[in-house]
Amino acid sequence: MITHDVIVVGSGLAGMRAAVEIRRKAPQADIALITKVYPTRSHSGAAQGGIAAALGNIRYDANGVPVAAPEDQPGDDWLTHMYDTVKGADFIGDQDAQEILAREAVPTIYELEHMGVPFSRMPDGRIAQRPFGGHTNPRACYAADRTGHALLHTLYGELVRYNVKVYPEWYMLSVVIEDNSCRGVTALDIRTGEVHAVNAKATMFGTGGYGRAFKITSNAFSSTGDGITAAYRAGIPLEDMEFVQFHPTGLFSHGILLSEGARGEGGYLLNGLNERFMSRYAPGRMELAPRDVVSRSIYSELEAGRGAGPNGEYVLLDLRHLGKQKLDERLPQITELARDYLGIDPVTEPVPIQPTAHYSMGGIPTDADGRVVRGENEIVQGFFAAGECACASVHGANRLGTNSLLEATVYGRRTGQTIANFLHLESQGVGAAIPAMPSQALKQAEDELRELLSRTGREIAADIRKELQATMFQNAGVFRTPEKLEAELGIIEDLRERFALISLDDKGRRYNTELIETLELAHLLEFSECIVAGALARQESRGAHARRDFPKRDDTHWMKHTLAYREADGRARLDYKPVRYGPDGPRFQPEERKY
Ligand SMILES: Cc1cc2nc3c(=O)[nH]c(=O)nc-3n(C[C@H](O)[C@H](O)[C@H](O)COP(=O)(O)OP(=O)(O)OC[C@H]3O[C@@H](n4cnc5c(N)ncnc54)[C@H](O)[C@@H]3O)c2cc1C
Repeated sequence: MITHDVIVVGSGLAGMRAAVEIRRKAPQADIALITKVYPTRSHSGAAQGGIAAALGNIRYDANGVPVAAPEDQPGDDWLTHMYDTVKGADFIGDQDAQEILAREAVPTIYELEHMGVPFSRMPDGRIAQRPFGGHTNPRACYAADRTGHALLHTLYGELVRYNVKVYPEWYMLSVVIEDNSCRGVTALDIRTGEVHAVNAKATMFGTGGYGRAFKITSNAFSSTGDGITAAYRAGIPLEDMEFVQFHPTGLFSHGILLSEGARGEGGYLLNGLNERFMSRYAPGRMELAPRDVVSRSIYSELEAGRGAGPNGEYVLLDLRHLGKQKLDERLPQITELARDYLGIDPVTEPVPIQPTAHYSMGGIPTDADGRVVRGENEIVQGFFAAGECACASVHGANRLGTNSLLEATVYGRRTGQTIANFLHLESQGVGAAIPAMPSQALKQAEDELRELLSRTGREIAADIRKELQATMFQNAGVFRTPEKLEAELGIIEDLRERFALISLDDKGRRYNTELIETLELAHLLEFSECIVAGALARQESRGAHARRDFPKRDDTHWMKHTLAYREADGRARLDYKPVRYGPDGPRFQPEERKY
């Protein structure tokens, strides 16, 4: 058995930032990090547009044009950032967590700068900032349109500097919780095919999102909600899974992201009639309304027959007026993506786009310190989560762009601090015994793998996955109806039955990617039910959850978080818990959300 004081699962921004913080605050602790992909291939590295913080280096002038703010008069403040986040979340986010996010954003950025993140600069040397949807002021700090890459690689440098042990290409299979205390995980070494029990005092998940449940998605192949499903199977309810963000500007038919930074730099959205149609839906913010609003507007245009292209299936992102120099300097990656995947040069042609599944607002419930909670506030000893897999909930029903790299770093660090404090408690202290790993945990993980490999049915995992992704996109997408959601629940049940009858071509153990993809498919099938059941039950429209039959937000009945529990038969049972506020109650009261 492998033992460590702390095991972090996930080498995205959240996991790496946490590991570095634990090392700083508890230097003696023995920390290890498990990741199914090579650390710098985590999805965080694909982030493009920026990371939010109210540095106030740039402000809008009287004509709404971003200009440099005087150094002694910052053009922004954390409270405005918090308000934007609360409003963007459609008032269902937990305001204690949102306050921490906004307050800690500024020092977090400077800390990243000091670690060496190569942020883009203003001519006077300050960190450059650009506008983003739903933010009152231009507050996205960026490194061209490769912000995530810059952040992830810088943090990886820190990880190496601090000598954190990494198990790359290890696949976490299950999290082991007994008597409400987490004992560690079981994991498959992908290269050898061996299964190990990894026993620890503290286990942290930074396992990322679940966009791969949808056909059109901006997410990496690895964003399959493994951590979320493992927690769910271990008896942790999943929170607010129905809130899935669809980013307005995915490359048509691919879903690959074209950063909101493109609109932040001044890009337009045009329909088939060449109209800047956002004037119909959000005249105040136009293209820079929040993502849920823009994605619904696009669908409304398509449904009204005002789409572009031969079949009116998409709208256009027009960047031509920005000019080649600005595109090369500020948006080189997305320019390249449009050229490579659609053969379209954004310098001379508008780019076909469609909404793409992008971000998981829901996930493993945590308090504002990264501790995993069950029910309303029962803390699970020794289990922590941060980043996209966690639901703190800072993004409520809709995340603002650039707030999630921020969440991953702010809450990664904060959770690292919580874990360091946890280790400093005498009973858990360095050198104290690690709570025992139940002996059956390893055997169970091993048996489950063996059973999966020995199946001899006629179903093929890839077919089931394709069907799930296509129907989820169609039935649980931007606009939802009870008929479609009910149909999807039936489809998921049917696909789960078919999954029981699959057979793998590759029955070997070494580097069996088919096995990994099959395990991931089992996760998609399991948590998708939570998304759909939560969406069917929530009879209102709030943030990213838009019901045709209940077009309005309903604070009287639905100002509460959904919790999906896994029943013994594998099905989801829903319950609810109240929204959390700071000790003095809500800083911001719900109001109508207009842009
Ligand atoms: C294309 C794209 C662009 C984006 N742009 C922005 C942006 O500009 N600004 C912004 O704020 N946000 C952006 N986001 C969102 C943001 O990047 C993510 O929410 C954030 O990076 C998530 O970080 P994370 O650390 O939680 O997880 P990830 O970076 O997704 O990392 C997850 C980690 O978990 C590991 N893992 C998962 N399952 C297992 C398992 N079973 N066993 C072992 N390891 C496992 C993986 O190996 C990986 O290391 C973007 C997202 C995408 C997809």
